[in-house]
Amino acid sequence: MLNTDPHPDHHHAPGATHLSAGPERLPGICPATRHTLTDSLQRPLRDLRISVTDRCNFRCIYCMPKEVFGRDHHFLEREKLLTFEETARLARIFAALGVEKVRITGGEPLLRRELEDLIAMLAPIPRLDLTLTTNGSLLAEKAHALKEAGLRRVTVSLDSLDDEVFRAMNDVDFPVERVLAGIDAAARVGLTPIKINVVVKRGVNEHSILPMARYFRGTGQILRFIEYMDVGHSNGWRLNDVVSAAEIFATIHAELPIEPIDSNYRGEVARRWRYRDGGGEIGIIASVTQPFCRDCSRARLSADGQLFTCLFATNGHDLRSLLRGGASDDDITDAISGVWQSRGDRYSEIRSEETVTLPKIEMSYVGG
Ligand code: SF4
Repeated sequence: MLNTDPHPDHHHAPGATHLSAGPERLPGICPATRHTLTDSLQRPLRDLRISVTDRCNFRCIYCMPKEVFGRDHHFLEREKLLTFEETARLARIFAALGVEKVRITGGEPLLRRELEDLIAMLAPIPRLDLTLTTNGSLLAEKAHALKEAGLRRVTVSLDSLDDEVFRAMNDVDFPVERVLAGIDAAARVGLTPIKINVVVKRGVNEHSILPMARYFRGTGQILRFIEYMDVGHSNGWRLNDVVSAAEIFATIHAELPIEPIDSNYRGEVARRWRYRDGGGEIGIIASVTQPFCRDCSRARLSADGQLFTCLFATNGHDLRSLLRGGASDDDITDAISGVWQSRGDRYSEIRSEETVTLPKIEMSYVGG
């Protein structure tokens, strides 16, 4: 599918189509053109999740269980991490290929020193929705600097308001109140709307669903309940531990009636609902019981420069060697285009007992 090319002198990724762009000119972004690249299932490349570290100060049981990510776990050495300049260069290239949203992730991204410097490098990219996902542990201290640097909004992971349950889930005895303080700080500086992610695991925190809905209803913050997933190959995932979207809906609707609302865009991961009484919006992310692969527009970049085309991938594509090997922006553009165009991932649609044990990359490495 190739439109007639109004800009023959511009270098275009094979198979790319045109979208006209704004006036600004940034290195690597051709002002007149912004491509939309599609994969083998006609899904556009629209979202890029950038992990800036594989380290975290939590050991959430569904992501980085302590028994696997213990004292002797080898985290990425500093020289293996992309520099902020390398990360920003890749982000500009992805933006020229149609990426409209960049989410900074980790591990825990706020552990990466001077992260606001990277935010300041990314914020000038035209029309980029720049957001970040954090466990909130350092947000109270960092919110103002991140906002000043150009961050638009944040998503905070908070799996329960019950301090005992939360401490058990993060497994480092970290108190709820400090995460709530981070959320308040983000709200004060205007990193809004704030989304609150809650991974629900049966027998652990399903009793937290209603208390969290009651607490955040009417605050403008958007709760999103996430079905527990078989990410990576370390969390001992079992289907029986999944609290389905239908159960989460029924639990809330029984006390706080909700109704469906349209998604904001194709490929949005959360199913959106609103309280009938005007108390705001919530979301449910149902990767296990209601897969959404058919509209998945997400690419992921690990902190050491590997490109992944699915959260449940088993291998990536090395962009760091290109960056450090003297490749031009066009060479890197071609490499990314080639990977995306041959993409056919739809893991959640084909999940089975066999696939659960595949050596999938860890979520803490590729950033959720
Ligand atoms: S399983 Fe993979 S392809 Fe499906 S929605 Fe998730 S990241 Fe996208």
